[in-house]
Amino acid sequence: MVEDSLQALLAEISGCRLCAAHLPLGPRPVLRASATARVMLVGQAPGTKVHKSGIPFNDPSGDTLRDWLGIDSATFYDENRIAIMPMGFCYPGRDVRGGDSPPRPECAPHWHAQVRALLPNIELTVLIGAYAQAYYLGPRRGASVSETVARWREYLPDFLPTPHPSPRNRNWLRQRPWFLDEVVPELRQRVQALL
Ligand code: SF4
Repeated sequence: MVEDSLQALLAEISGCRLCAAHLPLGPRPVLRASATARVMLVGQAPGTKVHKSGIPFNDPSGDTLRDWLGIDSATFYDENRIAIMPMGFCYPGRDVRGGDSPPRPECAPHWHAQVRALLPNIELTVLIGAYAQAYYLGPRRGASVSETVARWREYLPDFLPTPHPSPRNRNWLRQRPWFLDEVVPELRQRVQALL
C-alpha cells in the first residue's frame, strides 16, 4: 500500500516541470526509492553524466561513496535497501565559474517531505555536502562542511554528514585524516547493520 503510494509519487515526480524554465537540459529527475529502504543518501544534484544515464553516482564520486559505505554497486543500487534522493532531482546547469550550479531551490521543499513520508523505514540519512546538511540540520549545522562533519556524533542516529565524495575533495580528505579514520568506520558499521 505504502509502496503503491510511493510509486505513484515517483511517477508524479518524473513528470515534474516546476522549475523547467531554469534547467538548461530540461527536467530529468533522478532519484531512487522503495518503501522498504532503511538508509537514505541525500546528495546535491545530478551532473551531466547522471542526467544522461539516469543513474546517480555512476562516476568516480560514486566509487568513493560506495567505498565509504563499504558496499558494492549491487547493494548501492538496490532501492529496496538504499534510497538515493538529491537536494535537486534534475541537472541545474553550470555557474559562472564553470562548476555545476546549486540544486534548484524549489525541489527539496516541494518534494522531500512527501517522499520521506512514504519511506517509513529510513533509520539513517547520510547528508552528503553542504546543501543537504543545510536543509536537514538547519541551525544545528556548523559554520562549514568541515565543522559539521567534525561534529558528526551530534546528529546520530538519524543523520550522518559527509563531505561530497568528489575527486576534487582529495585535499580536504588529506588534511582531515580523522574523517577516514573515525567517521567512515562508523558509517560503514551503521550502514551494514541496517542492510
Ligand atoms: S529539479 Fe525538482 S522541482 Fe525542478 S523540475 Fe526537476 S524535479 Fe521538478
